Amino acid sequence: MKQSICLLGATGSIGDSTLDVIRQHPEKYSLFAVAANTNVDKMVHICRTFRPAVAVMGSAEARDELVRRCEGLNIEFEWGEEAMCAIASAAEVDQVMAAIMGFAGLMPTLSAIRAKKRILLANKESLVTAGKLFMDEIARFNVTLMPIDSEHNAIFQCLPQNENGFSKSHVSKLLLTASGGPFKDWSLADMREVTPAQACNHPNWSMGQKISVDSASLMNKGLELIEACWLFDMSPHDIDVVVHPQSIVHSMVSYKDGSVIAQMGVPDMKVPIAYGMSWPNRITTGVAQLNLMDVATLEFSKPDLERFPNLKLAADAWFIGGTAMAHLNAANEVAVDAFLNNRIGFLDISKINERVLNELPTLAVTNLERVFEGDRIARNLAETIVQSGKYL
Ligand code: NAD
Ligand code: MG
Repeated sequence: MKQSICLLGATGSIGDSTLDVIRQHPEKYSLFAVAANTNVDKMVHICRTFRPAVAVMGSAEARDELVRRCEGLNIEFEWGEEAMCAIASAAEVDQVMAAIMGFAGLMPTLSAIRAKKRILLANKESLVTAGKLFMDEIARFNVTLMPIDSEHNAIFQCLPQNENGFSKSHVSKLLLTASGGPFKDWSLADMREVTPAQACNHPNWSMGQKISVDSASLMNKGLELIEACWLFDMSPHDIDVVVHPQSIVHSMVSYKDGSVIAQMGVPDMKVPIAYGMSWPNRITTGVAQLNLMDVATLEFSKPDLERFPNLKLAADAWFIGGTAMAHLNAANEVAVDAFLNNRIGFLDISKINERVLNELPTLAVTNLERVFEGDRIARNLAETIVQSGKYL
């Protein structure tokens, strides 16, 4: 039967790749609803091309402009978080692609979980911040959670499958690969002078600005470490981060008998997206087959925690537990935004993250209000630190 999709974050990089996969399989997938924040130009194009039933924007102004520019199309236009939650839980929807950037993606994703949709999870920040509550809801509503982050999708593919998706039997470690980002071999002195344009110029992946900066600072790998702990019920002790600059091996699972299973491919997000949408089957993506002779060399090394302290901060946040992960994520969202707006330097991001993580007391995540409160106070503290100009 045809699967009906709700695409949250439709105008972003994951949005582009998801639309491309849907376009290639009109007999298998239809687009019921789309949501985005402010990019009306792109949303007009999506509405004209795909004719979803509902389109939601982040503000009333953006919605009104979209209405004006889509005259004659039989589409319902809405705005705001409540409308995003409504499309994510609509009866017509089978699968929800959660690809909003940052903490803003949490409520619509939870709404989709509670309506028992298949969750295609790109928005790692929602799982990192709400962790236990998120996973409890997945279990309570018996929902299929497909990791879209390429590393986690790879691990999912390398774990033994059972009727619930995967099992951990006989697994000794997860090997989470990291490209190392554009500054992998740079000195601290050079990294101090990095511009937003340089940080957004990732060697292997074309992504949104925030995740590109996170990849350059290794915060992305830190968030992914926490994401892997929640998804696969592991601790950072069970996960080795391995720097692999070619981004051909997307991650690996090491077994007790000495076997290591890797998932490989050309770095293109259409592959994990299509796998998430079609699992337990597979569909074509139009992505080129991997030619190992062209790649020739695969390198692996240890991450440098001195130059990239964010990775260690993420492990610290996991062990502190509770709202610490929401604090770290919120500090990072504020710091990355400040960096992108030339208010702070690249190396200040991890300093701000460290201060917020260390200065705020943490609470157990017993309810959603605590996550939102943790997010709010951490954002305020991070913004105060940015304004003070004293990062350590
Ligand atoms: P992007 O910046 O290209 O797109 C973000 C999308 O979210 C846009 O459609 C934007 O309109 C929407 N958005 C932003 N703020 C919003 C808000 N407040 N309310 C509603 N919509 C909002 O980002 P991206 O690269 O597509 O990444 C999206 C998510 O997927 C992130 O969580 C990222 O970590 C994750 N992810 C991305 C990649 C990748 O290759 N791009 C890989 C793995 C995971
Ligand atoms: Mg990733």
